[in-house]
Parts: sequence; C-alpha cells; structure tokens
Amino acid sequence: MTDSDMYKNEPVTYDNIDEGGYQESTLARVLRARMKRDGKRFWANDNISDYLHKSDKEHLINEATKAFEQVLDALLIDRETDPSSKGTARRLAKMYITEVMSGRYEPAPDATAFPNDSKDRYEGMLVVRSELRSMCSHHHQPVAGVAYIGIIAAQKLIGLSKYTRIAQWCARRGTLQEELCNDIAREIGRATGAEDIGVYMQMTHGCCENRGIMAHSSLTQTTVLTGSFKSDPGTKKEFFDNIKLQQEFAPR
Ligand SMILES: [Zn+2]
Repeated sequence: MTDSDMYKNEPVTYDNIDEGGYQESTLARVLRARMKRDGKRFWANDNISDYLHKSDKEHLINEATKAFEQVLDALLIDRETDPSSKGTARRLAKMYITEVMSGRYEPAPDATAFPNDSKDRYEGMLVVRSELRSMCSHHHQPVAGVAYIGIIAAQKLIGLSKYTRIAQWCARRGTLQEELCNDIAREIGRATGAEDIGVYMQMTHGCCENRGIMAHSSLTQTTVLTGSFKSDPGTKKEFFDNIKLQQEFAPR
C-alpha cells in the first residue's frame, strides 16, 4: 500500500477535507486543507511545524519524491538508466524537507533564557555574527552570507550560539533577504524580550549569479532596526562600528 492509498482510506472528516469538499488523497492535501481552514499562512518562509506530527516528515518526503519524479520526467531526464539521476527525486525531496527548508518543518530551537535583572546586570550592546545559508523563494537558488545581530540586553539573556541557531532556523526556508532580515529581528526579540534590535545582513544570491543577470559577487545588504537602534543615532553608530570591527577581525 502506498502512502497516498493510506490517506485515501482515511475517513473523511472536517479535519481532512477542506471547505471546497475535495476528498483528501495525500498528507500534503490534508495538511493544506487544515491550514486553509484555520487561516494559517503557509508561504515559503512560514514555519508550519505546529501542523506536523513526528512521522509526517517521512510521509511528506515520500509524497514529494513522487512529485519530483514527475518533474524529472517532464524535463525528459532519464531517471531509469542514468545512474546519476536514479535517486535524484528522493534526494531532492529529502534535501528540501530536512535541509534547505528545514526551518519550515522544525519547531523553533530551544533557547533557554537566563535572567539578567540583578544589580550588576549587563546593560550594553551585544553583537553576534552569524553565517547563514538560505534559499530564495523566487528561484530556489542558494542565498549565502552573514548576519550581524545586535541587541541591547533586556531582562533576560540567551546563550550566544542561540542567536545563530535562531537565525539559521529562519534562514532555512524559502525567503527573500528583506523578509529574512525582518524574521530574524522578530524571532530574536521573541527569544530575548529585547525591544532594541539591529539586524544587518550581506548575502550573495545564486539567482543573480547562476542565471538572469549572471553577475558574480552580487552582494546585497539589508538592515532592520528597532527601538533605540532606530531612534538613537549613537546606538546605531555603535552597532555599525561593531560590525566594522567584526569584519576587520573576522574577514570572510
Ligand atoms: Zn531569486
């Protein structure tokens, strides 16, 4: 019995049928119907882990494998005798769900917060440099570079590696750099409780290098500033001075 047969035999309930009334035949259709029913957005840069059970990822990989087989067939690539193309459909399905888009299917990284509310609490700026790999949602081409994440410490602190883990979790989706910059600022704010946040990113885009304009080193810079990073020129300057120092001492 294939996976899609399994779901075909599922009783049709409100949970596995959408308002349009179609009978579900794959897990992906069931999950899409549930998200539509709830008004849950499922764009390429959205996390949908709340809708997935543990074993669902394996099912989705199986379903995406079948779909990628059809894509390869449509591209007239012989996946039966070309040894390099034999397992490609499954490799692609697995790569999307467990690697390049894993930030859609995995819940947020656990970022235990430590209190920062004593008399000698840290009140300064913290700037973390995070290396990121992402993928543009327009062309599914790699986007790579660094993000500098700055905060003015609030009532709690998180481990230094968590800044990068959170940024990577946001990046491992289909994104636009502008959106990604916003997503990182929002999630860092959520994890740290900080309202004063700066995120500066510089990334190269495969979609500008491998195709289209074919421009090498297509470096794109984006900045998101909130709270004092936005309103106080001194804080803003300190953030960018920190970035310059980081770039001097940790060149790419
Ligand atoms: Zn693109």
